[in-house]
Amino acid sequence: MMRHSAGWVTLGLLMVLAACSPVDIATRAAASPSPISTNTPIPQPTVTATATVTATIEPTLQPMPLNPSDCRVDSCTLDGDFWLQRPVDPPAEQHADNSYLYGSSQNGKRIPHSGVEFYNATGTPVLAAADGRVVYAGNDASTAFAPWTNFYGNLVVLEHATPRGEPFYTLYAHLSEIDVQSGTSVQAGQVIAKVGMSGSAIGSHLHFEVRTTPTDYTATRNPFLFLTPLAGTDGARLAVLAGQIIDQNGQLLPTAQLVAERADLPENSAPQRYYLETYTAGVSSDPAWQENFVLGDLEPGRYRISFVYDGRLIERFVTLSAGQLTYLSLQVEN
Ligand SMILES: [Zn+2]
Repeated sequence: MMRHSAGWVTLGLLMVLAACSPVDIATRAAASPSPISTNTPIPQPTVTATATVTATIEPTLQPMPLNPSDCRVDSCTLDGDFWLQRPVDPPAEQHADNSYLYGSSQNGKRIPHSGVEFYNATGTPVLAAADGRVVYAGNDASTAFAPWTNFYGNLVVLEHATPRGEPFYTLYAHLSEIDVQSGTSVQAGQVIAKVGMSGSAIGSHLHFEVRTTPTDYTATRNPFLFLTPLAGTDGARLAVLAGQIIDQNGQLLPTAQLVAERADLPENSAPQRYYLETYTAGVSSDPAWQENFVLGDLEPGRYRISFVYDGRLIERFVTLSAGQLTYLSLQVEN
């Protein structure tokens, strides 16, 4: 780990006005970050489904096909667990908005984000991210899927059978139109709804979310742990960077302002730089990964990950491979 005491340029987070949620900050369940350990079992999620949202898949937890605990030292590259497809097809925008990623509070200015945004015009078809069954199709005027009712507006929740065998749901919110009915089966890629701005959306977009309990706003996962990376300009799959920034006590370090920047570009080429923050306290990590940041759809290559902690610049270098997930585990020192 390299340290520098000066020379750091203050980072400006992108401030995009369009958002799916009110500007005020919600008080979320302040769960302590998970302690770091190896061979972490996947706990069975607490089921709090209401009578109107009935799950049918019984959890039969099985080991993941990968072993994130192998990545707890420095970094490594794995195949990932990518079995979801994008909820929109070209020419719709398939890249998520990087300024308000899962777990982000935009440096304390917004409610911690429980999903990701795909900015598209009202009427854009919304597609099922995987084969599944509709467990909810309607508005949230009377059934809350968030801290408040009338938050997501028109929404669809799909239940999926997963490679891991645990309960798994995708949620599509702020819809202008719903094209499926509760209880019906859907296939991956099937049109289930249209993009809109119902509920508390500011501007037209699709809010896409992954949950382990259909109506529990806190039982979310980062969608980019599961979304298949898009294809790059050369046709090869893009890459995913995920990881954990942890403090001296082994606890996840919240809202660290990270910069991921290509470190292998020719001199004088345009920089490829991404700003993101580690999850706000209380935002759920995947129990197996115990991550607190994920950045999807990155060009493969060598990257420098840096942030300022206690007045010091901390940086690491990782290499991302096409279609794979590179996991970085970084513990700050005294
Ligand atoms: Zn959103």
